[in-house]
Amino acid sequence: MTAKAQLQPKFDVVIIGGSYAGLSAGLALGRAIRNVLILDSGRPCNRHMPHSHNFLTQDGSTPAAIAAQAKEQVLAYPTVQFRADAATRVEGKDDSFTVTTAGGLVVRSRKLLFATGVRDLLPAVRGFTECWGISVIHCPYCHGYEYRSQATGILLNGTMAFEQARLLRNWTRELTIFTNGESTLDAEQRQQLADWQVSVVETPVQELAHRNGYLTHVALSDGQQLPLTALYARPPFEQHCPLPQALGCLHTEAGYLQVDETQQTSQPGIYAAGDATTPRRAVTIAVTAGTLAGIGINHDLLASL
Ligand SMILES: Cc1cc2nc3c(=O)[nH]c(=O)nc-3n(C[C@H](O)[C@H](O)[C@H](O)COP(=O)(O)OP(=O)(O)OC[C@H]3O[C@@H](n4cnc5c(N)ncnc54)[C@H](O)[C@@H]3O)c2cc1C
Repeated sequence: MTAKAQLQPKFDVVIIGGSYAGLSAGLALGRAIRNVLILDSGRPCNRHMPHSHNFLTQDGSTPAAIAAQAKEQVLAYPTVQFRADAATRVEGKDDSFTVTTAGGLVVRSRKLLFATGVRDLLPAVRGFTECWGISVIHCPYCHGYEYRSQATGILLNGTMAFEQARLLRNWTRELTIFTNGESTLDAEQRQQLADWQVSVVETPVQELAHRNGYLTHVALSDGQQLPLTALYARPPFEQHCPLPQALGCLHTEAGYLQVDETQQTSQPGIYAAGDATTPRRAVTIAVTAGTLAGIGINHDLLASL
């Protein structure tokens, strides 16, 4: 079937990215009786995690269960449609966008929301990918409780490592910083870490040994093996979806989509919400931003009538 043959009527909003932020915006817009299409390519950043924490009413649920319940509730609103498909191209401007998908759909929309998240660029350390989201983790508020009082590593260097150690002491006193090469900690930080009995290991990390994603020890390049239960890391990231950049949406210096208090990007009619816009990564925060975007878009639609 050709893309042209699938041309649909115009939507009020096409939401690109149908995970927590996108579904939350879909809920607000469905309740505002807006015609919405949600497109989702099915690759949320937390898909490897056995459990998600720190979301009231959903603490300890699996990421997939939270998303499935959310989707069921959002799709109860008859003006909201969901399609498992990736947006591959967007053209046009405010009030008249055209979105093309990998599946050959072409739709028109008055407003756009990007809730496309980020892609973590995991380092090539053996075992890292298998442990990511299970025992190699990014956030103590999400996972620190489960690893409280256990032998924990921090795979960071310099001030970031120091600040992470200060934070994590709340959860465990068994801390080791792996600078993975020469330390950039200053003398004062080293002294404070020594006072806190936090070890600093500069020898490069060769492998994260694990059982089904659960760390057993860290193997260093000099042959040493250090037992470890959890490791905090902050891998670099890239925007999951390049389309906002192609549309001229500005990014912050840190690489997030720039948005105002209504979640509108630097381009009129184009909104963004969730991890794509903020380093504060949590399901609750993505859901809140989605609600704000839904409200912002609805007001924008009212204003442009
Ligand atoms: C390892 C790990 C563990 C975490 N643990 C927790 C936790 O315990 N508790 C917690 O609150 N938070 C946790 N988080 C953070 C939380 O997962 C994120 O904040 C949240 O998923 C962000 O939601 P989002 O909707 O912005 O993006 P995502 O959930 O990443 O979803 C983005 C969606 O957009 C889709 N998409 C991208 N491009 C396109 C396109 N072109 N077309 C269509 N769809 C597209 C993707 O496929 C994906 O489905 C964790 C994160 C990670 C990485």
